[in-house]
Amino acid sequence: MNKIFKIENLHCANCLNKIEAKLKSMNVIETVEINFYTSTLNIKLNKELENAVLLKMITKVFDSIEPGSFVTNKEEIPKISEKSDRKSHKLEHENNTNKIPYILFFIGTFVFILSFFISYSLTKKIILVISYIFVGHDIIFKSFKNIKRGNFLDENFLMTIATFGAFAIGDFSEAVAVMIFYKTGEFFQERAIDNSKKSIEKLLSLKSVYANLKQANGEIVKVRPEDVKINDFIIVKNGEKIPLDGKIISGATSLDVSFLTGESLPYEVEINSQVLSGSLNCGNIIEIKVEKLYSESTINKIITMVQNAAAKKPLAEKFITKFARFYTPLVVGLAIIVAFIPPLFLGEFPLWIGRALVFLVVSCPCALVLSIPLTFFSSIGYASKQGILIKGGNFLEKIEKIDTVIFDKTGTLTKGKFKIDKIITAENFSGNILELAKAGEFYSNHPIGKIISKDQSIIINEKDIKNYTELPGKGISTIYKDNFIQVGNKKLMEAFNISIPNIETYQTIIYIAKNNLYIGAILLSDEIKKDSLKTINLLKSLGINTYMLTGDNKNIASAIGEKIGMNKNNIYSELLPQDKVSKIEEIKKLSKKGVLFVGDGINDAPALTLADIGVAMGKIGSDIAIEAADVVIMNDEPSKICELISLSKINKKILIQNIVLALGVKGIVMVLGVLGIANLWLAIFADVGVALLAVLNASKILKKY
Ligand code: ADP
Ligand code: MG
Repeated sequence: MNKIFKIENLHCANCLNKIEAKLKSMNVIETVEINFYTSTLNIKLNKELENAVLLKMITKVFDSIEPGSFVTNKEEIPKISEKSDRKSHKLEHENNTNKIPYILFFIGTFVFILSFFISYSLTKKIILVISYIFVGHDIIFKSFKNIKRGNFLDENFLMTIATFGAFAIGDFSEAVAVMIFYKTGEFFQERAIDNSKKSIEKLLSLKSVYANLKQANGEIVKVRPEDVKINDFIIVKNGEKIPLDGKIISGATSLDVSFLTGESLPYEVEINSQVLSGSLNCGNIIEIKVEKLYSESTINKIITMVQNAAAKKPLAEKFITKFARFYTPLVVGLAIIVAFIPPLFLGEFPLWIGRALVFLVVSCPCALVLSIPLTFFSSIGYASKQGILIKGGNFLEKIEKIDTVIFDKTGTLTKGKFKIDKIITAENFSGNILELAKAGEFYSNHPIGKIISKDQSIIINEKDIKNYTELPGKGISTIYKDNFIQVGNKKLMEAFNISIPNIETYQTIIYIAKNNLYIGAILLSDEIKKDSLKTINLLKSLGINTYMLTGDNKNIASAIGEKIGMNKNNIYSELLPQDKVSKIEEIKKLSKKGVLFVGDGINDAPALTLADIGVAMGKIGSDIAIEAADVVIMNDEPSKICELISLSKINKKILIQNIVLALGVKGIVMVLGVLGIANLWLAIFADVGVALLAVLNASKILKKY
């Protein structure tokens, strides 16, 4: 049983790992995922538990690690606007009443500044202690609370020890200054994280989606999209987002679909146009007949996908979690060594204590723990805004490494929107080829099938169709008006031992047979997508190998390959789905770093799974392909692959920058600390300053790199 909770009041990213571990160790809990940036906790229970009991139990764990943090039942996303407004009012209100800590902090800082003007040493010391209490009382309080619970290495405790140590060796001013800077840094860090959280929420448009439901009496009521049923009518006004997928039944307007596809040009729709939830109405009012429940609608699928992305933890994050576990004890251990070993030989005990304090101040791996998940989350959020849905940070890491991209042809490099060019009827046949073909493709979801069955000139009675069978990569067979019909390519005809004439063409040929005799063919053509050529060239310039795999015939495959500039030897045609899989296996062996497969079709699911990274085309793509893929391209443009690759590189660059920055600065400060060059002021910068910089650097992607 899965449960989702909202986390409140949790500010310490480093505590997350501890909370996660503690929750995991509980018997009833099977898996735990905490997403710091959406403030959600996702757990899987292995037994039924009453919600109130569960809430209390989990809150206890949160509170024991970060005092004051707790969990609440997650409101369903998205919230109705009014409700969320009310909630944000409440939060603002809470913030208003919670000014006391700031006031105390400012008094403390003011007293600290006053102390500069006092020269008499005892008075000065007393004033500094007073200032310290104003500034740091809550930290000291929290650390004592945590000691009672056995959390010795928590940040509050280390800050308390460091500042107490400074007092002990007579550095009163430094003790207070460390507290002031620590809290200022934390404050800015929190602000930066809050801002990122907000941008992520905005990106995901988690808020203010509601539906204007038209009732039988014509009255319009605002409801949650979850409460709207199929065949209900909803109204979408200018500036509102379409809440559910459906069809326009009155009005015409232009839609901004940039949230779905990254495509910023407005998109014109009219009566009978299919519209997707998540599109923004920028024109006139429209009425929509709902065709999908909210849970099945595009917007919900996207939101769930991106939210679940946080569950697939990238290696970098896993590494940091492990690293964090030993970093703090290690640095504290070093502090103890510096404090007690050198004085044994050199004396000057207080001096070495002072130097050891520098270690305590830099002992939190906060900069990394905060910034690494944020980097991935920002990248995923940014990508989703560009119409690229990445299902997890781990995939970004893999994409960064790949050296080969394999394309499916139909629907991927070409539009998959076939046009019937010519219908050939065999000499000895007098019936209507199109009728039989249409009857055959009646249930087909294949782009070819869809175009054939779309023809309006003939009406097919569904009752006449029996035994519809799909033969992936070949075509279909069915019984229509008691005749056995086959519609498909050469392979299909071969499979039934049907002899066919030789047709010389660069078009896609679909043969039609009745009762195992060839009766005619349909020639179709497809258009190459306008950015296919650019994509292949760009990938080549990045040193990436490109391949094309297709079930279509050889002539077409090589004609298209030539037009988009793909190497002749890298084109494989007339492949069955299982052949695609074995080709990918072969190519995988040739690739040193990993292959990415891009496809759209029902038949591509195995290939999508087998490749190191599977990318599906979201618009044309079948649900199975989208399900099987690691990345979904919403607007079906192959050039998004290039964007994806460059995003993965920027993501990595920022990770490395932050790791070097954080560990580098801290390492230098520790060395300088031992040598007696770095004081506590510098150390506190190395701690909070670096964390702040790393967080800002990570959130840079959100604001467009
Ligand atoms: P691709 O690899 O180009 O995306 P598919 O594997 O989906 O192609 O299909 C390969 C070939 O199988 C098509 O080019 C077509 O000749 C044939 N085919 C598949 N499904 C059908 C169908 N429903 N009707 C007719 N032909 C089909
Ligand atoms: Mg395909």
